[in-house]
Amino acid sequence: MNIRDIVIGANASIYYRMDFRKIKGVFYPRTDEQVQEAVAWARERGYDVTPKGGGSGLSGACTGGDRDRVMISSLQMKEVLSVSKDQGYVDVQPGATPDEINVLLAPLKMKFYVTPSSRDVATVGGMLNTDGGGNDAWVNGTMRDNTLRAKIVLYDGRLITVEQKSVKSSDSQLESDLNSVGMTINDVASSHGTLGFVTELRLSIRPIVQERLIGGLAEYRDSDELGSTLRRMIETKSPVKYGEAIVAAHPDVRGELRPPELILEFPEDYASNLENITHFRKLTAEELAKLKDVRLKLPKRNPKKGLQLALFEDYGFYGDGLKMIQEGVAGIDLLLKKHGFVPFAKYGHAPSKWYLGNNAAAYGIILHSREIRPEGITKAEVFKAVMELVDLCEEAGITPKPEHKWPYNDKVKNDRIQQIREVIGEGFNTFVLQSDCNVVLSSMV
Ligand SMILES: Cc1cc2nc3c(=O)[nH]c(=O)nc-3n(C[C@H](O)[C@H](O)[C@H](O)COP(=O)(O)OP(=O)(O)OC[C@H]3O[C@@H](n4cnc5c(N)ncnc54)[C@H](O)[C@@H]3O)c2cc1C
Repeated sequence: MNIRDIVIGANASIYYRMDFRKIKGVFYPRTDEQVQEAVAWARERGYDVTPKGGGSGLSGACTGGDRDRVMISSLQMKEVLSVSKDQGYVDVQPGATPDEINVLLAPLKMKFYVTPSSRDVATVGGMLNTDGGGNDAWVNGTMRDNTLRAKIVLYDGRLITVEQKSVKSSDSQLESDLNSVGMTINDVASSHGTLGFVTELRLSIRPIVQERLIGGLAEYRDSDELGSTLRRMIETKSPVKYGEAIVAAHPDVRGELRPPELILEFPEDYASNLENITHFRKLTAEELAKLKDVRLKLPKRNPKKGLQLALFEDYGFYGDGLKMIQEGVAGIDLLLKKHGFVPFAKYGHAPSKWYLGNNAAAYGIILHSREIRPEGITKAEVFKAVMELVDLCEEAGITPKPEHKWPYNDKVKNDRIQQIREVIGEGFNTFVLQSDCNVVLSSMV
């Protein structure tokens, strides 16, 4: 492994042009003590610290922005430290991926149920810091629902353990101060590396359930009809295990797809109840596998002309917004076209669950969007489109998953992080909280 892996190679976001002279050190610790040493090295020189996991985050936070900084990678911290089948948890270092953890748990017939599409590269430390979830977050929750505690090295080198309802520390004053501000795992979830370096996590695990599942495909007149169906699934607490919506696909990739459509997987004995919510065609196991594969490959295919771009991830339609997806998508597409982009594909997890900046759970559809980027468009123009999309979503009550939104403008989350940093100190990923975060990121497109 070399410096390219950590600062360039692994960064899935659109923010990748950086001034490498500002990266003053790169550390690959293996233990808590080595993390403390790396943090001390940065602190003594007045540098910021940017934690980095698999680099699959899309907000740009794992780059560290424009600060003089030290990068600390978790990629050498992959150990599974202990497993308790009886109590249903696994203790792991932050650099382990869900796939790696689940390979070890399989012989015990246990599973860690947070499995994003990026589960082969995303680390659990990074996933907690973006509050990641899989396409079954609807039933299995996001990282915050599945992390019982997280051990964190702070900028001043002290250690805290943040649990679901409180904080523990060998420093009793610090423990009491953090409990007075009510710090919990909700604060670490989606904190984008701004609090400290997570060195260990206790994750919930549950038995692998052997259920007979079957597949179904539902096609809709328009996206509003699809949204209303999702709403009914949510209201009736449907046991659908897997749901993927394809809302739009460009002719270059459409093939046999007939969007808007919903690919579903559910317990066999739920089929008749589902028929009361939506019409659908049952799929054979082969047909379901093929459709899942088509969906997975959508973001990996390129248009015949121009380049595909993940301009802005994760539009979250929920509540009444579910009945008006068509209008929302049309508005988004109009804005994209105004900026010269051609809408390419829109698809997403549905029904899904995510959390708003105030920690309230939202249930609906998380829609990913891919556009065709024309030749010659400048980075300032790309970023301007991102910012206008954030504003449009804000006005329309469409809440993007915090991953992409709050580093720019989720004031509630931002204020809360600032409140906690008043107790624990600053120094971790500071650019994310600065008012000019947008300007910094726009220079990195
Ligand atoms: C193809 C693809 C598919 C994806 N699918 C999904 C999906 O289905 N669901 C989903 O939720 N997301 C998805 N994502 C987004 C991404 O995988 C998640 O955001 C993931 O949680 C990031 O994990 P990471 O280890 O790559 O973190 P990084 O990108 O390295 O970092 C993300 C943030 O976490 C911080 N961080 C990393 N490690 C630590 C640590 N040890 N301590 C403190 N802070 C830390 C970083 O500073 C940064 O702010 C996808 C991304 C891609 C590219």
